[in-house]
Order: sequence, then structure tokens, then C-alpha cells
Amino acid sequence: MVKDTLQTVGKTVLLKGWVNSIRSHGKISFIDLRDRSGLIQVFVAGPINLKPETVIAVVGKVSLRPEKLINPKLLTGKIELQSESIEVLSPCRELPLPIDTDGCNIDETVRLKYRYLDLRRPRLQRNLKVRSDYIQACREYLFQQDFLEIETPILTKSTPEGSRDFIVPSRNYPGNFFALPQSPQQYKQLLMTAGFERYFQIARCFRDEDPRADRAFEHTQLDLEMSFVEREEVMALMEKTITYALEKIGAKIKIKPFPVFTYKEAMEKFKADKFDLRTEKDKKNNLLALAWVIEFPFFEKKPDGNWTFTHNPFSRPIPEHESMLLKKQKIGQIITTQYDLICNGLEVGGGSLRSYQPEMLRAVFEILGHPPAKIKSQFGHMLEAFTYGTPPHGGCAHGFERLLMSYLGEDYIREVQAFPQTGSGRTSVMDAPSPVDPEQLQELQLKISR
Ligand code: ASP
Repeated sequence: MVKDTLQTVGKTVLLKGWVNSIRSHGKISFIDLRDRSGLIQVFVAGPINLKPETVIAVVGKVSLRPEKLINPKLLTGKIELQSESIEVLSPCRELPLPIDTDGCNIDETVRLKYRYLDLRRPRLQRNLKVRSDYIQACREYLFQQDFLEIETPILTKSTPEGSRDFIVPSRNYPGNFFALPQSPQQYKQLLMTAGFERYFQIARCFRDEDPRADRAFEHTQLDLEMSFVEREEVMALMEKTITYALEKIGAKIKIKPFPVFTYKEAMEKFKADKFDLRTEKDKKNNLLALAWVIEFPFFEKKPDGNWTFTHNPFSRPIPEHESMLLKKQKIGQIITTQYDLICNGLEVGGGSLRSYQPEMLRAVFEILGHPPAKIKSQFGHMLEAFTYGTPPHGGCAHGFERLLMSYLGEDYIREVQAFPQTGSGRTSVMDAPSPVDPEQLQELQLKISR
């Protein structure tokens, strides 16, 4: 790798990478050779005919540069490679978009059509590296705390998380559909019934909502669940994980421990349940201001007069309000154990203690107006599981892309995702959604009525 050349001065080495740039001075030329670890100047005794972004293999001697040619801005600025031979491994055509800028002003559809080139720009290389480091640090911390990483299915059943499902038709059961998970909510709770006690997953979640700057069809969250815990224990665990991971990637947190506001306090003080605690100076210093919001109303009235849940139907109310829920009294006053985490004005996570007694969960669905048959068909499996010794449990999920956006100074979630959808909901690089073969439709017994 390029960065290893710092240790091999005087030796002949083989380096492989991309032609980042070329400077030709007639009889001599210079190539900046790039690999994932950085850039090195390659000295060529003669003219060269190479296009930028061509992949080459160079054999040459690593030499110290003369004092006045040292480039202090480059990690390898004190050395260069004196090329002896250059082999082209893969040529590069004219690029359809510049990749030596930050790319912010380039049309999104072009950037995402050629995302594999767009990702070569240093800004995105850095963003994805930071993302990877952040995830690694979260994993590290949770493994230290005795968590197990467990995957849950992608082909699953609809779970209400307040959004629209993506659905997948079934070939074996024509006319029936899987739903992609809006979150692993139900499976992670079932893992508590199963006795794992401490679960986490870097979970992909799918929500068919109109994309926005900070919202996409797919997002990734650090999803966890714990048994035999109180609200504050789950919040503390998530807070410590995030603090550890953020500090590991070099981020600075404004207030530790994260301040906690009740929903009422937040509404009085900030007129919103998402707020930015940073001063102008904090913004300049790139501080992250995290805070918790607790004590939300469990239910709110819909315009049609029926009740809906504000956050998560699987939540348990605060202990003082459990009997109100069971008796379905003063529904609008019931407070949930939900906790939301915000950072620099964005919601970056949330969770709750869960209803683990079947009668409590059933009461929630009854308040939501679900008839008994629907409760049975949609949630019968949870109600049944909870009759086989389910520990009290609670959990949290942290959508880390928004947090990374804040840290990296990015305005769009796509800047921290490798292959995001476009703002109009189409895939990067591959042209989807797209029609399928008539045979596929036939196999699924589906007809397009258009
Ligand atoms: N399932 C919730 C979500 O995805 C998080 C949780 O309550 O653990 O937002």
C-alpha cells in the first residue's frame, strides 16, 4: 500500500492503484498514484500517455525527495517512487462527472447513476470510512457489555411503526405478501422471550415514506433489546455506546451525560420535541449536542376521532399509568416509557420498555380500535409468546446515519450511504424500480391493472 512506502525508503516496491493526476513536463512526468491508503508521487523519466483514473501497477524505488521538493501537505510528501516500469491493469475512459471536487453541485441523478465513480471522491471515501469505524466501535462496546449480535429476517410480516410497508409477493402463496421490516421490533422482543437477554443488530429498516434530506426508503440502525431492565438502564447503555463510538471516531460531545427533558419541558422551552442545544460557537467547533426526551403521551387523537399511538404500540406505559391503560381510562393522559434521542435538532434514536404481559399489549390494540380478529391475525404470535414466560424488557434503536451526517457536516443522508436512492425514489446505478418479466408476474399470479 502507498502508506507503507514510508517504511521502505531505498527499496524497490510494487504499488497498484489509480492514476489520480498527471503532470507532464516534456522529458519528465509525475503521476500521483492513489490507493485506499493515500497518494504518492511517481517520478517517470520520460513522457507518459495515461488517462486519469486508469488502474496501473508501478515498480520503482522509493526515494527521498530533494529538500525543496518536499510537499508537507501529503503524508508521503517527503518521498517519491522512481518508476522503473508501469503496467496498465485497467484503462479508464473519459469520466462522466468530475470526481476531484466535493461533488455537492453535481446533479444528483448523474452522481447516483455513476455512484461507483462518485464514491471515489475523497469526501465520500472519508464518510464511508467514518461510518465503518463508528459501527465497529459500537460493536466493540456492545460485545464488551456481553451483547450478542443476532440477525432477524428481512422477509417478514407487517409491523406497525407508523410508516407504510414495502411488500413482497409470495410465489408459494399467491395473493399473499411478505413485508420488509420497518424495524426488527417484534423479532427482537421474541429474542427476549427466547432468553438471550442482550441482543443487538446493525439492522436495515425499510419504510415507504417520501424521501427527504434526512430520510430514505432504507436506513440502518443500531438496534438493541435488553431483559430485566428499567428505562434508565436502557438509556444509559445506549448513551454509553454512542459516547464510546463517537469519541472513537474523534467527535466531540457538548454535554455529558446527555441532558434529559420531559416532553412537556421540551414543548414549553423549545416549542418542539426536537431541538438544537448548540450555540453558534458550538456549531463552529463541530460539537454534537445530544439530549433525551421522555414522558411522551402514549396516544393521540387522529382527525377521524380514533386513537393512534405517538411512537410505538409495543411500548409499556410508565408504571403509574399501567392501570389506566388496562382499564382504558383517561387515554389521552397515559404517558409511555418511550425515550427519544436527539442530536443537533435531528431525531437520532428512540426506544421504550415494552408491554410483556399479553393483556397490556392487547389493551393497546383495543384502544387503537383493532377488532379482535385483526389483533389475533396481526399480533396473535406476540400475545401467545408472552404467555410462555417473557422477561420484562426494553430496548432502543439508534439511526446512526443522521448522527454521522451531523458530525460530518452533511445535509443529506445519501452522503453517508454507499448506494442511496435518489430523491425521487430510484436506486443508485441500477434502474429500479423497473418492470419484471411477464413470466415472473405469472408465477406470482399477479396482473398489472393499468
Ligand atoms: N422499533 C423502534 C424504531 O425502529 C425502536 C425501538 O423502540 O427499539 O424506531
